[in-house]
Amino acid sequence: MRRLLAAILLLPLFACAEATPEHCVEVILTGTQGGPPAVNGLAGAGTLIRYGTVENQCNDLQLQFDAGRGTTMRLSQLGLTPNDIDAVFLTHMHSDHTEGLAGLMQLRWHYTGGPIDLVCAADAEIDDRILSCRAYSEHLGDAFIHAGEIEQRVAENSNRHADGPSGLIEIEEVAETAVPVIVWQSGDVTVSAITTTHIPGSLAYRVDTPAGSVVIGGDAGNEKTAPPRATSTSGAVETLAMGADVLVHSAIHPVFAPNEGSAFPAPVYLRQSNAADLGAMAKRAGVGQLVLTHLIPALSTSSHGPFNVPGGELSATDFESVARSSGFEGKIYVGEDLLSVRLP
Ligand SMILES: [Zn+2]
Repeated sequence: MRRLLAAILLLPLFACAEATPEHCVEVILTGTQGGPPAVNGLAGAGTLIRYGTVENQCNDLQLQFDAGRGTTMRLSQLGLTPNDIDAVFLTHMHSDHTEGLAGLMQLRWHYTGGPIDLVCAADAEIDDRILSCRAYSEHLGDAFIHAGEIEQRVAENSNRHADGPSGLIEIEEVAETAVPVIVWQSGDVTVSAITTTHIPGSLAYRVDTPAGSVVIGGDAGNEKTAPPRATSTSGAVETLAMGADVLVHSAIHPVFAPNEGSAFPAPVYLRQSNAADLGAMAKRAGVGQLVLTHLIPALSTSSHGPFNVPGGELSATDFESVARSSGFEGKIYVGEDLLSVRLP
Protein backbone atom coordinates (compact mmCIF):
# COMPACT_ATOMS: atom_id res chain seq x y z
CA MET A 1 0.00 0.00 0.00
CA ARG A 2 2.80 2.35 0.95
CA ARG A 3 4.58 1.52 -2.29
CA LEU A 4 1.42 2.23 -4.29
CA LEU A 5 0.95 5.59 -2.53
CA ALA A 6 4.56 6.56 -3.33
CA ALA A 7 3.99 5.66 -6.96
CA ILE A 8 0.84 7.79 -7.09
CA LEU A 9 2.61 10.71 -5.42
CA LEU A 10 5.59 10.51 -7.80
CA LEU A 11 3.52 10.16 -10.93
CA PRO A 12 2.64 13.85 -11.42
CA LEU A 13 6.28 14.79 -10.85
CA PHE A 14 7.48 12.49 -13.60
CA ALA A 15 4.65 13.56 -15.90
CA CYS A 16 5.59 17.20 -15.29
CA ALA A 17 9.29 16.58 -15.92
CA GLU A 18 8.48 14.86 -19.18
CA ALA A 19 6.15 17.63 -20.37
CA THR A 20 8.66 20.43 -19.82
CA PRO A 21 12.24 19.29 -20.37
CA GLU A 22 14.84 21.87 -19.49
CA HIS A 23 16.11 23.79 -22.49
CA CYS A 24 19.31 25.66 -23.20
CA VAL A 25 20.67 28.02 -25.79
CA GLU A 26 24.35 28.27 -26.63
CA VAL A 27 26.04 31.15 -28.45
CA ILE A 28 29.34 30.23 -30.13
CA LEU A 29 31.52 32.65 -32.09
CA THR A 30 32.53 30.80 -35.27
CA GLY A 31 34.75 33.71 -36.28
CA THR A 32 35.83 37.03 -34.77
CA GLN A 33 37.91 38.65 -37.51
CA GLY A 34 36.81 42.24 -38.12
CA GLY A 35 36.62 43.22 -41.78
CA PRO A 36 38.35 41.76 -44.83
CA PRO A 37 41.98 41.25 -43.59
CA ALA A 38 43.28 37.85 -42.53
CA VAL A 39 44.90 38.22 -39.09
CA ASN A 40 46.44 35.65 -36.75
CA GLY A 41 44.43 32.74 -38.16
CA LEU A 42 41.08 34.16 -37.09
CA ALA A 43 37.99 32.97 -38.95
CA GLY A 44 35.66 35.51 -40.55
CA ALA A 45 32.63 36.87 -38.76
CA GLY A 46 30.00 34.39 -37.66
CA THR A 47 27.92 33.30 -34.69
CA LEU A 48 26.30 29.92 -34.21
CA ILE A 49 23.23 29.72 -32.00
CA ARG A 50 22.28 26.27 -30.82
CA TYR A 51 19.08 25.42 -29.02
CA GLY A 52 17.73 22.24 -27.55
CA THR A 53 17.26 20.36 -24.33
CA VAL A 54 19.87 20.30 -21.60
CA GLU A 55 19.87 16.54 -22.00
CA ASN A 56 20.98 16.71 -25.65
CA GLN A 57 23.41 19.62 -25.09
CA CYS A 58 21.30 22.31 -26.87
CA ASN A 59 21.55 20.23 -30.02
CA ASP A 60 18.10 20.45 -31.65
CA LEU A 61 18.61 23.57 -33.77
CA GLN A 62 21.75 25.04 -35.31
CA LEU A 63 21.34 28.59 -36.61
CA GLN A 64 24.33 30.24 -38.30
CA PHE A 65 24.44 34.06 -38.31
CA ASP A 66 26.90 35.26 -40.97
CA ALA A 67 29.46 32.92 -42.44
CA GLY A 68 32.84 34.53 -42.93
CA ARG A 69 36.08 32.91 -44.06
CA GLY A 70 36.73 29.56 -42.38
CA THR A 71 33.25 29.03 -40.94
CA THR A 72 33.19 25.38 -42.05
CA MET A 73 36.53 24.76 -40.33
CA ARG A 74 35.30 26.25 -37.05
CA LEU A 75 32.09 24.19 -37.26
CA SER A 76 34.23 21.08 -37.72
CA GLN A 77 35.93 21.90 -34.40
CA LEU A 78 32.47 21.75 -32.82
CA GLY A 79 31.77 18.38 -34.41
CA LEU A 80 29.32 19.92 -36.89
CA THR A 81 29.16 19.61 -40.67
CA PRO A 82 27.36 21.95 -43.07
CA ASN A 83 24.59 19.33 -43.29
CA ASP A 84 23.80 19.96 -39.59
CA ILE A 85 22.91 23.64 -40.07
CA ASP A 86 19.17 24.41 -40.10
CA ALA A 87 19.28 27.98 -41.36
CA VAL A 88 21.73 30.75 -42.25
CA PHE A 89 21.06 34.43 -41.56
CA LEU A 90 23.15 37.18 -43.14
CA THR A 91 23.50 40.62 -41.54
CA HIS A 92 24.71 42.26 -44.77
CA MET A 93 26.41 41.55 -48.05
CA HIS A 94 30.04 42.41 -47.18
CA SER A 95 32.27 39.48 -48.10
CA ASP A 96 33.83 39.21 -44.62
CA HIS A 97 30.35 38.04 -43.51
CA THR A 98 29.43 35.93 -46.55
CA GLU A 99 32.48 34.38 -48.22
CA GLY A 100 32.40 31.29 -46.02
CA LEU A 101 28.88 30.49 -47.19
CA ALA A 102 30.20 29.40 -50.59
CA GLY A 103 32.46 26.77 -49.03
CA LEU A 104 29.81 25.70 -46.54
CA MET A 105 27.18 25.22 -49.25
CA GLN A 106 29.59 23.47 -51.63
CA LEU A 107 30.29 20.88 -48.95
CA ARG A 108 26.61 20.52 -48.03
CA TRP A 109 25.88 19.94 -51.72
CA HIS A 110 28.78 17.48 -52.07
CA TYR A 111 27.44 15.32 -49.26
CA THR A 112 23.84 15.63 -50.54
CA GLY A 113 22.56 17.68 -47.61
CA GLY A 114 18.97 18.88 -47.73
CA PRO A 115 17.48 22.28 -48.56
CA ILE A 116 18.50 25.11 -46.25
CA ASP A 117 16.79 28.38 -45.31
CA LEU A 118 18.78 31.52 -46.09
CA VAL A 119 17.39 34.66 -44.45
CA CYS A 120 18.78 38.00 -45.62
CA ALA A 121 17.73 41.44 -46.83
CA ALA A 122 15.76 42.02 -50.01
CA ASP A 123 17.66 43.79 -52.79
CA ALA A 124 18.90 47.20 -51.64
CA GLU A 125 20.04 50.11 -53.75
CA ILE A 126 23.48 51.60 -53.30
CA ASP A 127 24.04 54.61 -55.55
CA ASP A 128 22.81 53.26 -58.90
CA ARG A 129 23.72 49.65 -58.17
CA ILE A 130 22.04 46.85 -56.25
CA LEU A 131 23.27 44.89 -53.23
CA SER A 132 21.60 41.54 -53.71
CA CYS A 133 21.62 38.57 -51.40
CA ARG A 134 19.40 36.80 -53.92
CA ALA A 135 21.98 37.22 -56.69
CA TYR A 136 24.74 36.07 -54.33
CA SER A 137 22.79 32.95 -53.40
CA GLU A 138 21.88 32.14 -57.00
CA HIS A 139 25.50 32.39 -58.14
CA LEU A 140 27.17 30.79 -55.13
CA GLY A 141 28.53 27.83 -57.07
CA ASP A 142 29.17 29.53 -60.41
CA ALA A 143 32.96 29.10 -60.39
CA PHE A 144 32.56 25.36 -59.78
CA ILE A 145 29.86 25.14 -62.45
CA HIS A 146 32.09 26.91 -64.99
CA ALA A 147 35.06 24.76 -63.99
CA GLY A 148 32.96 21.70 -64.85
CA GLU A 149 33.21 20.20 -61.38
CA ILE A 150 29.47 20.32 -60.65
CA GLU A 151 28.65 18.31 -63.78
CA GLN A 152 31.51 15.88 -63.16
CA ARG A 153 30.43 15.16 -59.57
CA VAL A 154 26.74 14.89 -60.46
CA ALA A 155 27.78 12.25 -62.99
CA GLU A 156 29.38 10.38 -60.07
CA ASN A 157 26.41 10.77 -57.74
CA SER A 158 23.02 11.67 -59.19
CA ASN A 159 21.69 12.47 -55.69
CA ARG A 160 23.61 15.74 -55.90
CA HIS A 161 21.43 18.66 -56.98
CA ALA A 162 21.95 19.27 -60.69
CA ASP A 163 22.01 23.05 -60.16
CA GLY A 164 24.90 22.89 -57.71
CA PRO A 165 24.94 24.42 -54.19
CA SER A 166 22.49 27.22 -55.04
CA GLY A 167 19.84 24.59 -55.78
CA LEU A 168 19.65 23.79 -52.05
CA ILE A 169 18.96 27.36 -50.92
CA GLU A 170 15.47 28.45 -49.96
CA ILE A 171 15.78 32.19 -49.60
CA GLU A 172 13.66 34.36 -47.33
CA GLU A 173 14.16 38.00 -48.24
CA VAL A 174 13.45 40.57 -45.54
CA ALA A 175 11.99 43.88 -46.73
CA GLU A 176 13.31 47.06 -45.11
CA THR A 177 11.70 47.43 -41.69
CA ALA A 178 11.98 50.02 -38.93
CA VAL A 179 10.36 47.72 -36.38
CA PRO A 180 11.26 44.12 -35.50
CA VAL A 181 9.45 41.52 -37.65
CA ILE A 182 9.48 37.75 -37.27
CA VAL A 183 11.49 36.28 -40.14
CA TRP A 184 11.93 32.65 -39.12
CA GLN A 185 10.34 30.25 -36.69
CA SER A 186 10.73 26.67 -35.58
CA GLY A 187 8.69 25.31 -32.66
CA ASP A 188 9.10 27.71 -29.75
CA VAL A 189 12.08 29.51 -31.31
CA THR A 190 11.50 32.73 -33.22
CA VAL A 191 13.95 34.95 -35.06
CA SER A 192 13.10 38.61 -35.59
CA ALA A 193 14.94 41.17 -37.71
CA ILE A 194 15.18 44.93 -38.00
CA THR A 195 16.90 47.04 -40.65
CA THR A 196 20.09 48.72 -39.48
CA THR A 197 22.51 51.30 -40.79
CA HIS A 198 25.90 50.06 -42.04
CA ILE A 199 25.50 49.50 -45.76
CA PRO A 200 22.10 49.33 -47.48
CA GLY A 201 20.37 46.02 -46.79
CA SER A 202 21.82 45.54 -43.29
CA LEU A 203 19.88 43.62 -40.65
CA ALA A 204 20.19 42.78 -36.97
CA TYR A 205 18.53 39.65 -35.60
CA ARG A 206 17.02 38.55 -32.31
CA VAL A 207 16.55 34.91 -31.36
CA ASP A 208 13.93 34.28 -28.69
CA THR A 209 13.77 30.88 -27.02
CA PRO A 210 12.31 29.58 -23.76
CA ALA A 211 15.91 29.37 -22.49
CA GLY A 212 16.81 32.98 -23.26
CA SER A 213 17.18 35.60 -25.95
CA VAL A 214 20.18 36.56 -28.07
CA VAL A 215 20.65 39.57 -30.34
CA ILE A 216 23.13 39.66 -33.24
CA GLY A 217 23.83 43.29 -34.06
CA GLY A 218 26.19 42.73 -36.98
CA ASP A 219 28.27 45.73 -38.04
CA ALA A 220 25.49 48.24 -37.31
CA GLY A 221 26.32 51.85 -36.60
CA ASN A 222 24.30 54.93 -35.77
CA GLU A 223 21.59 56.06 -38.17
CA LYS A 224 23.42 59.38 -38.33
CA THR A 225 26.62 58.35 -40.04
CA ALA A 226 28.81 61.31 -39.05
CA PRO A 227 29.31 63.55 -36.01
CA PRO A 228 27.92 65.46 -34.30
CA ARG A 229 25.82 62.66 -32.80
CA ALA A 230 25.14 61.30 -29.32
CA THR A 231 26.54 57.81 -29.95
CA SER A 232 28.02 55.54 -32.62
CA THR A 233 25.58 52.71 -31.84
CA SER A 234 22.40 51.82 -33.70
CA GLY A 235 18.99 52.93 -32.45
CA ALA A 236 17.48 49.96 -34.30
CA VAL A 237 19.74 47.45 -32.52
CA GLU A 238 18.96 49.13 -29.21
CA THR A 239 15.23 48.65 -29.86
CA LEU A 240 15.78 45.00 -30.79
CA ALA A 241 18.06 44.34 -27.80
CA MET A 242 15.70 45.60 -25.07
CA GLY A 243 15.88 43.12 -22.21
CA ALA A 244 17.88 40.55 -24.18
CA ASP A 245 20.07 38.10 -22.27
CA VAL A 246 23.00 38.32 -24.68
CA LEU A 247 24.01 40.94 -27.23
CA VAL A 248 26.64 39.89 -29.78
CA HIS A 249 27.99 42.94 -31.62
CA SER A 250 30.85 43.96 -33.88
CA ALA A 251 33.17 46.36 -32.07
CA ILE A 252 35.76 48.85 -33.19
CA HIS A 253 38.25 50.28 -30.70
CA PRO A 254 38.58 54.08 -30.41
CA VAL A 255 42.31 53.84 -31.26
CA PHE A 256 41.12 53.50 -34.87
CA ALA A 257 39.14 56.77 -34.69
CA PRO A 258 39.97 59.42 -37.31
CA ASN A 259 43.11 61.43 -36.52
CA GLU A 260 44.45 58.87 -34.02
CA GLY A 261 47.16 57.82 -36.45
CA SER A 262 45.94 54.50 -37.85
CA ALA A 263 44.98 55.95 -41.28
CA PHE A 264 41.84 53.77 -41.05
CA PRO A 265 39.28 55.49 -43.34
CA ALA A 266 36.98 57.77 -41.32
CA PRO A 267 33.72 56.78 -43.07
CA VAL A 268 34.48 53.09 -42.40
CA TYR A 269 35.18 53.83 -38.72
CA LEU A 270 32.02 55.88 -38.39
CA ARG A 271 29.67 53.22 -39.81
CA GLN A 272 30.62 50.79 -36.98
CA SER A 273 29.77 50.89 -33.27
CA ASN A 274 32.73 51.62 -31.03
CA ALA A 275 33.35 49.52 -27.94
CA ALA A 276 32.75 52.39 -25.48
CA ASP A 277 29.33 53.20 -26.94
CA LEU A 278 28.38 49.50 -27.06
CA GLY A 279 28.79 49.25 -23.29
CA ALA A 280 26.53 52.27 -22.87
CA MET A 281 23.92 50.82 -25.22
CA ALA A 282 23.96 47.45 -23.42
CA LYS A 283 23.33 49.32 -20.18
CA ARG A 284 20.42 51.35 -21.61
CA ALA A 285 18.84 48.27 -23.20
CA GLY A 286 19.11 46.24 -20.00
CA VAL A 287 21.15 43.53 -21.72
CA GLY A 288 22.52 40.81 -19.45
CA GLN A 289 25.79 39.96 -21.23
CA LEU A 290 27.71 41.74 -23.98
CA VAL A 291 29.83 39.78 -26.45
CA LEU A 292 32.21 41.89 -28.53
CA THR A 293 33.22 40.30 -31.81
CA HIS A 294 34.51 41.29 -35.28
CA LEU A 295 37.19 43.20 -33.40
CA ILE A 296 38.88 46.08 -35.19
CA PRO A 297 41.78 46.03 -34.71
CA ALA A 298 42.29 42.34 -33.96
CA LEU A 299 43.97 41.53 -30.64
CA SER A 300 47.71 40.97 -30.34
CA THR A 301 48.74 42.50 -33.64
CA SER A 302 50.47 45.76 -34.47
CA SER A 303 48.76 45.98 -37.86
CA HIS A 304 45.21 45.25 -38.95
CA GLY A 305 45.54 44.66 -42.68
CA PRO A 306 47.38 47.73 -44.00
CA PHE A 307 46.56 49.83 -40.91
CA ASN A 308 48.94 50.32 -38.00
CA VAL A 309 47.54 50.05 -34.50
CA PRO A 310 48.47 53.36 -32.81
CA GLY A 311 50.35 52.67 -29.58
CA GLY A 312 50.90 49.01 -30.47
CA GLU A 313 48.89 45.84 -30.14
CA LEU A 314 45.70 45.70 -28.05
CA SER A 315 44.68 43.11 -25.48
CA ALA A 316 41.23 41.86 -24.53
CA THR A 317 41.45 44.11 -21.48
CA ASP A 318 41.85 47.15 -23.73
CA PHE A 319 38.49 46.37 -25.36
CA GLU A 320 36.79 45.40 -22.10
CA SER A 321 37.90 48.51 -20.22
CA VAL A 322 36.51 50.94 -22.81
CA ALA A 323 33.21 49.03 -22.92
CA ARG A 324 33.14 48.99 -19.10
CA SER A 325 33.79 52.75 -18.91
CA SER A 326 30.08 53.23 -19.72
CA GLY A 327 29.09 51.83 -16.34
CA PHE A 328 27.64 48.62 -17.84
CA GLU A 329 27.72 46.08 -15.04
CA GLY A 330 26.87 42.89 -16.90
CA LYS A 331 29.39 40.34 -18.11
CA ILE A 332 31.54 41.47 -21.05
CA TYR A 333 33.20 38.92 -23.31
CA VAL A 334 35.90 40.02 -25.74
CA GLY A 335 35.48 37.64 -28.63
CA GLU A 336 37.85 34.91 -29.63
CA ASP A 337 37.03 32.17 -32.10
CA LEU A 338 34.90 29.41 -30.53
CA LEU A 339 34.09 31.45 -27.41
CA SER A 340 30.85 30.04 -26.02
CA VAL A 341 28.14 31.49 -23.80
CA ARG A 342 25.36 29.24 -22.57
CA LEU A 343 21.92 30.14 -21.22
CA PRO A 344 20.31 29.83 -18.76
ZN1 LIG B 1 32.25 43.28 -41.30
